[in-house]
Amino acid sequence: MVDLHSQYMTMKEEVDGAIRQVIGESSFIKGKSVKEFAVSFAAYNNVKKVITCGNGTDALQIALMALDLQKGNEIIVPTHTYFATAEVIALLGLTPVLVDVDPDTFNIDVQQVEEKITKATKVIIPVHLYGQCADMENLLRIAQQHDIKIIEDTAQALGATYTFSDDTTRKAGTMGYIGTTSFFPTKNLGCFGDGGAILVNDEALGEKINMIANHGQRIKYHHEIIGCNSRLDTIQAAILQVKLAYLDEAIAKRQKVAQVYTNGLKEVEGIEIPQGTSFSTHSYHQYTIKINKGDRDVVKSKLLEKGIPSLIYYPVPVHLQKAYQQYGYKKGDFPIAEKLQKTILSLPIHPELPEDQQLYIIDTLTEIIKNA
Ligand SMILES: *Cc1c(COP(=O)(O)O)cnc(C)c1O
Repeated sequence: MVDLHSQYMTMKEEVDGAIRQVIGESSFIKGKSVKEFAVSFAAYNNVKKVITCGNGTDALQIALMALDLQKGNEIIVPTHTYFATAEVIALLGLTPVLVDVDPDTFNIDVQQVEEKITKATKVIIPVHLYGQCADMENLLRIAQQHDIKIIEDTAQALGATYTFSDDTTRKAGTMGYIGTTSFFPTKNLGCFGDGGAILVNDEALGEKINMIANHGQRIKYHHEIIGCNSRLDTIQAAILQVKLAYLDEAIAKRQKVAQVYTNGLKEVEGIEIPQGTSFSTHSYHQYTIKINKGDRDVVKSKLLEKGIPSLIYYPVPVHLQKAYQQYGYKKGDFPIAEKLQKTILSLPIHPELPEDQQLYIIDTLTEIIKNA
């Protein structure tokens, strides 16, 4: 699916040098690379402040903790997402309100968001799934009307650009009240372990988030609030600082890979290629097609027989997860997500994927679908 090793080989000297330097300084926690990376990453995204943390799930949790929410407050979140987005809501004792997604973009259905808003709604968490932004302009309008905050889960869409109807552009994760992201190795900007970040445009909010991620202390050993311990290691920050310089190039390569798939698959009957939007670029964290002919699982195993891996992101929507039983959702509640769960298939995509391998994937898949 991904080839982290060949990516490493393209920048080995620089990455090794950065790691060696951190080891030389032996400042493994809160070393100077952490601050340097936070500044560079804020500049890349054009936001006021970046607070780095341990992973993308912590970033979501800390973002929610920063909003002073109360038990009974409702958080709207799509059911078709990685479980972490919904998990943190439950973990903090808040009330998740799930909504279905748009069948073409896989992102949160704005109309359903509007229908689910109550007096208790405090937050909407759109997930920019697979690398493409949700309909932020409408979400921001709704949020403003009802005094609701938006936390953008940008773990998959780092570097995607959103264009508003007045032609202003913003990076994914910088439009809502808070943006969160992950540096898990396979993400568009991945480190060599776990890592995450929170993006904000409000300095005071940034200070508060910093405090929450650091045991609720501003001054060492003086704890003002209950926080948590979530840090980006210095070594990871140093690696990310090197890799950030190549992020746009990596995304451009992903887009090129996606274009090859699109050209090769768009005419194949029974395959639906990913749909674009008028408002967002696509950073192609995933290239996710829909299999509308034959059995997706059979297609998947036939691909594997020919040496081609593929993945189902995600096989079980949030509302049907066992851990979410307590909220009383049942099969049939979100038909789009349930249908997607049976038809979606993500193909191998990464910046270094050679074109000949891609053509082999396209030919093999086309043949399988023809006979499906
Ligand atoms: C990866 C991911 C996360 C969690 O990130 P971790 O760093 O693994 O905790 C959250 N949301 C989405 C949409 C993700 O893809």
